[in-house]
Formats: sequence, structure tokens, C-alpha cells
Amino acid sequence: MTHFRDLNLNTPLYNALDDLGFTTPTPIQAEAFSVVSSGKDIVGIAQTGTGKTFAYMLPILKNLSFSKQENPRVLVLVPTRELVVQVVDEIEKLTKYINTRILGVYGGTNINTQKQAIAKGIDILVATPGRLYDLALSHVLKLKSIQKLVIDEVDVMLDLGFRHQLINIFDILPERRQNIMFSATMTEDVDLLINDFFTVPEKVSIAVSGTPLENIAQSKYSVPNFYTKLNLLKHLLDDTEKYHKVLIFVAFKKMADRLFEALDEFYKEELCVIHSNKTQNYRLRSIEQFRAGDNRILVATDVMARGLDIDNISHVINFDTPLFPENYMHRIGRSGRAEREGQSIIFSTEKEQDSLEKIEELMQMEILQIDIPKDVEISTELIEEERPQIKEHNNPFKRKKEDDIPGPAFHDKSEKNSKENLGGSYKFKIAAKYKKPKTKGDKNYNKRNKKK
Ligand code: AMP
Repeated sequence: MTHFRDLNLNTPLYNALDDLGFTTPTPIQAEAFSVVSSGKDIVGIAQTGTGKTFAYMLPILKNLSFSKQENPRVLVLVPTRELVVQVVDEIEKLTKYINTRILGVYGGTNINTQKQAIAKGIDILVATPGRLYDLALSHVLKLKSIQKLVIDEVDVMLDLGFRHQLINIFDILPERRQNIMFSATMTEDVDLLINDFFTVPEKVSIAVSGTPLENIAQSKYSVPNFYTKLNLLKHLLDDTEKYHKVLIFVAFKKMADRLFEALDEFYKEELCVIHSNKTQNYRLRSIEQFRAGDNRILVATDVMARGLDIDNISHVINFDTPLFPENYMHRIGRSGRAEREGQSIIFSTEKEQDSLEKIEELMQMEILQIDIPKDVEISTELIEEERPQIKEHNNPFKRKKEDDIPGPAFHDKSEKNSKENLGGSYKFKIAAKYKKPKTKGDKNYNKRNKKK
């Protein structure tokens, strides 16, 4: 597809596009158009800057008829207030010649002003999840007419801990609706959300090239566990001349913190970290220090590192093996920029071998295997997630979905859930917090609390 004309839009939309000077759909716009138009659920994988806002808005606007009804028919959820402003701005550009009522709402501002604006009647509502939920609870905002739900930047949304809020919102939306999700990276959390709440959405992505940039030299180490990975990492990092600007990737913020703490002892002034639990200021400062060369080592999660554009990275180290091979491509693409030779190293445990194979399959090449150097100590100590899990067969008291509690712990759950047995300490923590067992089967509850 080479021209917007092929999309069969209408005159007001063409006029708006003409005013913007846009003639050709971007790849994600071309790919997503027919799927969004068809009314099917869709997950689009696209980063900011690829034209993803128009990718979902063009088909939505094409099919949105004029209406005088007050309740919104399209709901766009985004993770931050900045994004609310940006998305509203983009929609306004497209609706220059259409009579569409658009409103953006977000927290931290006067809710009453927003209630008044809602009462006037809207077609498209762009919102952050928390404020949307508050407005819905106040009954000023009625969601019964929502036909299309867009969740933009799902990965950031989940990384910021909005999973529970999203689920609350799903509950008050009409069941018959189209779900349109956009995410820059596919993460385990995104995958879980999709599997739990949507019936096989169509996946649309601009194909991530499986051919790594030619100026990136890749190597891999088979490492038995976290502590051995740490020993090997220290061994590498101690060569300060060779490893002069190192970006270390991990999948989760919990792991980022754990690794940061473990490295802090050895590399204090040389080390910084970014993930979504850090404040925006902290993150910006870390990135700046790394960019400027004040810090030699940056530990980052996939979601937070995706916007990074930093030159002269000597090494990308994959401390874990990404579950989704696309993330590996994004990670290693951070090195080897601007004609310079980059180096990528990946650590994989036995459990991670399947993911490693998927990466090699996508690239259609095998990564060069390097043996762990003799002077790196092989640790036998295991972290919580690596210890053998106690398998419970047919346990009628096993925690069920309904037992999940609200609050930030809920978000952490999905991360932990896939890694460790939650039947034990997690249950006790909740019991302590709520003074009574959340599950009926905790027969030791009274015993334990008497002891305290
Ligand atoms: P987004 O990925 O939605 O944040 O869009 C990135 C930028 O690309 C925005 O400023 C859009 O206005 C612009 N844009 C969107 N679609 C097109 C297009 N087809 N041609 C040129 N620019 C576009």
C-alpha cells in the first residue's frame, strides 16, 4: 500500500491529512487499518514515532458516525498525562473537518472541571486509568456506550502498575466492544494480560528484522544461575578499558534492583539504574550520567530502555535471556550505532535455553558460544526464583484469581507468579495485612499468629 487513497477514507479525513502534508501511510498504519476496521480485537506492536496513534484513529474515525448522544463511544487509555495531551492533539489534527467531540482527562487536576466537560457530551475520551475510574464511579461519566477501547502503550501501563486498574475498568465497560491494544514491546506482563482478558486478538507488527546489524558482534555464555551470572559479569566489567560503556538489560524491575544492589558494592560511582519504579527525575539523571560517561554501567529494563538513544555503547549485556526474541533485537540494536562496532553478550541458564533458541531461530544464525573463564567462580547458591518449587497437585485450597487483592501487590503478582510459588510467604503477608486468611485453607494461620 503506497497511498492513503487506498484506504478508502472520507473527504474530511483526506482534507485533514492533506493539511498535515501526509500522503503515505506508515507501515503500522497500513498493517493495522483493515484489522481495526474489521472490528476484531487487535494487538499492535509499534513504538512511539511510528505513527501508531493514526494507525488506530484513522479506522476508528472513518467508521464513527455523527451522533448527538452524550456518552462517549470511544475510550483511549494511556499511561501518562503527557500522552493524554499528545493523543488528544493528534486526534484534533485528524478531526479538523469533522464534528467530533474529544476530551482528555488525567489525574492531578480539578476533577469537577472535567465532570462539567463530560456533561456537555463527548465522542472520544482519552484518559489515564486512575482518573477515568474515579470519573466513572462518580456516575457523571457513563461508559455503557463504549464500542471501542484503545489501550495505548500497554507495556508502560503494566510496568507502572496499572494492571489492577485496567481490570477494574474492563469490569465496567460493555462486554460487546472492540479491544485495540498497542505496545512498543511485547513483555511477559502484556502477554499475560492478553491471555487472561482477550480472546485471541490479531497481532499486527512491523516485522522486527531478524538480521542483526552487521557491525554487532554477538556472543553467548551458558551460566547455571544468578550468582554465577553475577560473578561472570564482574569478571567482564573489571576490564574497564574494554567495557567502557555498558548497558545491562534485565526483564523486570525487581531483577534490576537486585542486580543494582549486588553490583553497587563493587562499582558504586560507575553504576546507575533505570526502571519504572524510579522517579522520572531519577531516570533522566541516570540516563544523562550514562550518556555523558560519568557512569560506566547502566542497568535497565526493556520497557524503560526503549526510548534510549545513546551513542558509543561498547557492550550490551543481556543479563537474562528475553522471552520474546524481538526484545533481544531491540536490546542489541542499542550498540553498534553510527558505523561503530558494537558487542552484545547474552547469559542464559538452562531454563532460558528455549528462549535462546527462539532468538537464534529469528536471526537464523547461531551466536558464538564462549566458555566461562576458569577464574570465574561457579556459585551453587540460588535466588528465590531458582529454588525448586513445591508442586501442589489438586489442592482445593490453592489460591484462585478471585483471591487476588487490590493494590500494587497485584501487579507484582504477575511478575512473581511465573517465577515462584506464591502459596507460602505471599499468602502469609496478605494474611498479616488483612488480619484474617485470604484463603480458607490456611490451617496454620492461627498457630502462626499466636506465636507473634
Ligand atoms: P506517533 O507514533 O503516533 O506518536 O506519531 C509520530 C509522528 O508521526 C506524529 O507527529 C504524527 O503526526 C506523525 N505521522 C503520523 N502518521 C504519519 C504519516 N503517515 N506520514 C507522516 N507523518 C506521520
